[in-house]
Amino acid sequence: MIFFKRKKGGANQSETPLELKADSGCSAENQQREIAARQGEALPWLRELVYDALFKRGEKIMLDYSREAVAGRVMIDGLWHSLEPRDREQGDAMLVALKRLSGMKPEERRTRQVGKFVAEHEITKAKFLGTVTSQGVKTGERVIVELRPKKSRVFKSLEELGMREPMQERLREHMRAEGGIVLIAAPPGGGFTTTWNVTLNATDRLLRDFIGIEDDRHPETEVENINMTRFDGAGGVTPDQLLHKLMLTQPDVVTLPDLVNAATVDKLCELATSREPKLVIAGVRAKDAVEALLRVLLLKSSSKAFAQAVRAVLCVRLIRTLNETCKQPYQPPPQLLKKLGIPPGRVKVLYREWQPPPEEEEEKKGRKKLPPGACPICEQEGPLCHGIFYRGRTGIFELLEVTDPLRKALVQQPKLETLRKIAREQGHRGLQEEGILLVARGLTSLNELQRVMK
Ligand SMILES: [Zn+2]
Repeated sequence: MIFFKRKKGGANQSETPLELKADSGCSAENQQREIAARQGEALPWLRELVYDALFKRGEKIMLDYSREAVAGRVMIDGLWHSLEPRDREQGDAMLVALKRLSGMKPEERRTRQVGKFVAEHEITKAKFLGTVTSQGVKTGERVIVELRPKKSRVFKSLEELGMREPMQERLREHMRAEGGIVLIAAPPGGGFTTTWNVTLNATDRLLRDFIGIEDDRHPETEVENINMTRFDGAGGVTPDQLLHKLMLTQPDVVTLPDLVNAATVDKLCELATSREPKLVIAGVRAKDAVEALLRVLLLKSSSKAFAQAVRAVLCVRLIRTLNETCKQPYQPPPQLLKKLGIPPGRVKVLYREWQPPPEEEEEKKGRKKLPPGACPICEQEGPLCHGIFYRGRTGIFELLEVTDPLRKALVQQPKLETLRKIAREQGHRGLQEEGILLVARGLTSLNELQRVMK
């Protein structure tokens, strides 16, 4: 991710070093759109809005037009934060400029419209693609601008994603296997794409033949050296209809980001346990590893075949990390450490979001009260947290290795509690325990762990 540095001298509009450009694919059309967007005086406001969002590492901007005002929010590390509200006059003018630039109809305020533009930093030349969606809602109109770096994505390693070394090694062992099913799980909208690609990136796909099958409506795989087949999901095609033909190429590994029906699961189980077994890597949307196993059974595939075939489940949950500059150490009381299961003496301090000292103390020192949205520590030396006290995200990973007692329970008592109990008895560390390790390492806070585990 490219970060924006604000030019010294503040947020003066005329100094905003960001250019907004049309992105129609045709230069004459682009020129027309840009000229239209420059009419009126709203383009500098729009530039400032987009610039401010990028500066704060925002992924999305939401503008809500109601009768009196325009409420704005920006999404940073997966959470919405409020922006200063604007009056309708300014907000409307900005929206007209945005729609003209993005090839949308400014006068249309009810029907859903989608458009796009490009934002380019004048100095660093970093480019972002802005996708604009507008739609009439009960209270007025809602506009969402999604901002994405324009250069192709570079996926991090498992380590950079936050996976502990011993877990990486165990996962690699499963990925090297000649047969069986490895599931990759994440909650809907909670980091699946990244985990899927990083995991596939860590496999030996240069040594073995990998094929991939995915719905052309939502492609997930961006890793190279996987022979991809996309199918027409909207037209009612399911992966099981393609598998027979695809297996004629004799691949070693089959990857599938979405298990859509029982017939597909049954076919994959058969492949994973046949005499010449194939490794199957498949995706599931679930909140934890045990739930992922049950989600597959809910498709009404054969539980016996699935229990036999499944080797392991990797599950991820994204969590924000405290900003290094301003995170605040505190001594945890012994009872707290005990409750967290951290052995005495292992950690001296834990960290939390920066908190202001008691007010009287501040007054004695003659310091002024801080405006909301500011961080007194980061203002002195970066990187900035913009008063959020967090910066960036990492993954909490859970790797459930499926053992015989779990296999038996999957067939006989496929219930969340039963399976969780067996996993715990076998020494499995769930997401909560893995998250506590991150807290103990000072990467995140207990508050944040509580928030994501809710
Ligand atoms: Zn800070």
